[in-house]
Order: sequence, then C-alpha cells, then structure tokens
Amino acid sequence: MHICTCSHCKYTFRYPMIPFHCPDCGKDAVREATEEEIRDYHQMQAILREEIRLGLYAATG
Ligand SMILES: [Zn+2]
Repeated sequence: MHICTCSHCKYTFRYPMIPFHCPDCGKDAVREATEEEIRDYHQMQAILREEIRLGLYAATG
C-alpha cells in the first residue's frame, strides 16, 4: 500500500498504487506522501479511531 497525497487539496489516503486522479477533488495531482504527511495521516487515523471508540463519530460501515 502507498500513502498518497493530493498536492491540490492535501487529501492523504492509502491506496494500492498511486492513482492518476485524486478521489477527493479529481485533480491529476496525486503523489507519494512525504514523511511529515504520513505522520499526520497516522495521527489523524488514531484520532478517528478514538472518536469512533468514544461514539463521537458515526461509523458508516
Ligand atoms: Zn485532491
């Protein structure tokens, strides 16, 4: 899995390969995430997991 970031909208996501188009904004601006972006990504995932655990976030299957 790659961690990719869109240079246009800064959306960071995991994907089996670097997609041509950003799944969020649709721009052709996706590249491999930098170390800093990967750190932010993992931090965000940890926050989301905690919010789901506390029931603050509606899990959508
Ligand atoms: Zn984007």
